[in-house]
Amino acid sequence: MQKGRVTAVVTDKNIFETDLVVDAAGVAGRKVANMVGLDLPMRPIFSEAMITEAYPPLFNQMVGHAKGLFYGRQTAHGSFFWGGFVGTEQFIYREGKPSFHYIGPTISRMVIDFFPVLKDLNVIRMWSGLIAQMSDAIPVLGFTEEVPGFVFTTGFCGHGFGLAPVIGRLISELILDCKTSIPIHDFCYGRLHKDSGNECSCQGNAACTTVTAVCPNKREWLKSI
Ligand SMILES: Cc1cc2nc3c(=O)[nH]c(=O)nc-3n(C[C@H](O)[C@H](O)[C@H](O)COP(=O)(O)OP(=O)(O)OC[C@H]3O[C@@H](n4cnc5c(N)ncnc54)[C@H](O)[C@@H]3O)c2cc1C
Repeated sequence: MQKGRVTAVVTDKNIFETDLVVDAAGVAGRKVANMVGLDLPMRPIFSEAMITEAYPPLFNQMVGHAKGLFYGRQTAHGSFFWGGFVGTEQFIYREGKPSFHYIGPTISRMVIDFFPVLKDLNVIRMWSGLIAQMSDAIPVLGFTEEVPGFVFTTGFCGHGFGLAPVIGRLISELILDCKTSIPIHDFCYGRLHKDSGNECSCQGNAACTTVTAVCPNKREWLKSI
């Protein structure tokens, strides 16, 4: 960084000069933000999901417990995909790896409780990973006033796959055109540093509405700092 703005990305192999950096590092998004002197109320939480063997068609809808204890759907192939949250996710991993494998069995018990007919179905594979959980469970998107040229697109919590297509499009619009076809100011970095209340401190603020001086495409402003 120079004069408070982004000037390059340094890797172990190269230095890439740029006036624009996108923080799309998922659960490492906080670490990357720290590199430019910003911080996020983000913590990693561990999550597991599973696929069962095939079963005759049972339902078409995605189903889920209102408290998030489990959610899932049956695939066209007949397998069920199940995931869920059991309340201990933030404590049961070390260095990104699970230290106890009880999320899967706990979810399974809940599924069987609601769908006893599935009690003999085998789980054929599971996967797990760390989720970038924000304090208000909402992603961080867009430029920041603090570091011109630094763009957030991280903190997707448990919804990054679903949001990826629209967010990719919005962030490319933001970078190329300095505006987005759907407003994103409710997701701004500034909301995380407001003094009180739930209203986004960036609401109506030029930096967050993105047609703004912090967009690197507004070169004239950048030259002045
Ligand atoms: C078990 C499980 C089930 C899930 N189920 C769903 C679901 O059903 N639906 C859904 O929408 N979401 C789901 N999610 C959440 C989803 O996985 C995340 O929200 C999504 O992957 C986040 O995408 P991302 O691009 O922000 O981060 P990531 O997918 O984590 O990608 C970040 C990338 O940045 C790279 N990176 C990190 N640090 C650096 C660095 N310093 N320099 C360069 N690169 C770096 C990483 O290697 C990685 O490739 C699930 C997650 C888990 C763990």
